Amino acid sequence: MPNQPAAGRPASHLFYQSRLRRPLASHAEGIYIWDETGRKVIDGSSGAMVVNIGHGNPRVLEAMKRQMDKVTFAYRLHFENEPAEELARRLAGLMPEGMDKVFFVSGGSEAVESCLKLARQWAVAVGQASRYKVISRFPSYHGSTLGALAVTGYDALTAPFLPMMQAMPKIKAPTAYLDRDNLSMEERGLKYADMLEEKVLAEGPESVLAFIMEPIGGASTGALTAPDSYYPRIREICDRYGILLIHDEVMSGAGRTGKYLGGDHWNCNPDLIALSKGLGAGYCPLGAMIAPSRLVQPVLDAGGFAHGYTYAGNPLACAAGLAVLDEIENHDLLGNATRVGNLLRQELEGLAERFPFIGDVRGKGLLLAAEFIADRETMAPLPKEMNAYQRVVDIAYERGLIIYSRRTRGGTEGDHFLVCPPMIITPEEI
Ligand code: PLP
Repeated sequence: MPNQPAAGRPASHLFYQSRLRRPLASHAEGIYIWDETGRKVIDGSSGAMVVNIGHGNPRVLEAMKRQMDKVTFAYRLHFENEPAEELARRLAGLMPEGMDKVFFVSGGSEAVESCLKLARQWAVAVGQASRYKVISRFPSYHGSTLGALAVTGYDALTAPFLPMMQAMPKIKAPTAYLDRDNLSMEERGLKYADMLEEKVLAEGPESVLAFIMEPIGGASTGALTAPDSYYPRIREICDRYGILLIHDEVMSGAGRTGKYLGGDHWNCNPDLIALSKGLGAGYCPLGAMIAPSRLVQPVLDAGGFAHGYTYAGNPLACAAGLAVLDEIENHDLLGNATRVGNLLRQELEGLAERFPFIGDVRGKGLLLAAEFIADRETMAPLPKEMNAYQRVVDIAYERGLIIYSRRTRGGTEGDHFLVCPPMIITPEEI
């Protein structure tokens, strides 16, 4: 007897409850997306900070069609392919010095998993097998697969799985906007960075493999940046104890903040970088781990990286990624993200002046967020029952704007919303 589909949308691939019935997407162009009824809304979050160059870019679509006529899949263990080779070369040119090896994947969680596993295999290969702990921050988001989730600091997502995941130590992410001490910004940055050293010492330095952080926070913190002094101090501590520094640039990378990498705002030199989202910009699933030869070679010499995904280095996805990169470079989208981002930030700060329940506006370029609060003095969050983070999304949507919002302080309390339109947005559209 054949399956009897349930009423409604039987084949929905979404396994969670939503208060709003999601409309069917019909078509999209530039910063706009239309639903099945013909209603047009501004994609003010570029999906989930993905569609960085806007929807329906004809040059990217053309490049994909050209590639489709040649070959759409060539298994990486059987063939190299031209778009993957060229994209790897171009990406390496955008990375900090020495980051010359690119390992393609199909998404952010895969990119993070790859960093964790390469780090571990490197340690084993160079005779440091005692190192296996990865210190991360709270709050943070690094992905949904078990490895990436194990380093994620977001209670609402990790709680059911804690017993299944190796305990991974966490330190507090800098939340300078919440601090009510007499420290200068510089001192505060150092205070938070030094929490890493305390944690390393508490865990035993010989057991610590890596530290992973989002140089500019994403959805879990609402575009949180640390004080400037934080970044070099973190590098110093990692070097002191031989710990690898992993930058998760899945959301902050690919130009969204006005520089190709979020860490470029502080000239950071991480040991491993995870990229995705804006790399394929919604045209194809695409991600990458970027690593230096000094980490990759010992792994190769020891027999090779025991890791890989079937769709990795897919020629169609890489052709899309190349065309996306061309768009970013040919239309100075990094410059636009900075210019228009400054304007958007001013507008958000204007809102914060008018409305006392907006407590903090933060971020860089077009990765911007505003946090709701109940009280400016104490920065206390709004009561949880208000569900401000969901209500603001509903209200904005009713008025024709998609924004992205989450709980802020680790997924349990606090509310923020992110405004991250495509980097092609004009001042008028802002
Ligand atoms: N890392 C960060 C910083 C992210 O923001 C995300 C997704 O939002 C991920 C990793 C996971 O990426 P994906 O959902 O593509 O697996």
